Amino acid sequence: MIKDFFHGLPVQMQSIKTKLKVQRQLTYKCEWYGSELIIADRFYPSSQICSHCGHQQKMSLNVRLYECNNCGFKADRDFNAAVNLENYARQ
Ligand SMILES: [Zn+2]
Repeated sequence: MIKDFFHGLPVQMQSIKTKLKVQRQLTYKCEWYGSELIIADRFYPSSQICSHCGHQQKMSLNVRLYECNNCGFKADRDFNAAVNLENYARQ
């Protein structure tokens, strides 16, 4: 187990603590501005789904370009994931 020397908590607990803090701040800001906060499932494969045809394929984390094996669509990995998350929110 890795310890965070500054806070004395295991790194994994710090990560959960940070996630909850960000979620709490986003919830507050969305309420403030009258927006709806949609949180995708932790295991939603946003970077593995083709935003063009919906095909899903495994990708290594170091691969930055999404190239669909089904339709040939190519896009930056993060851009493709962002489009998928936008579509997820619109469902
Ligand atoms: Zn595709």
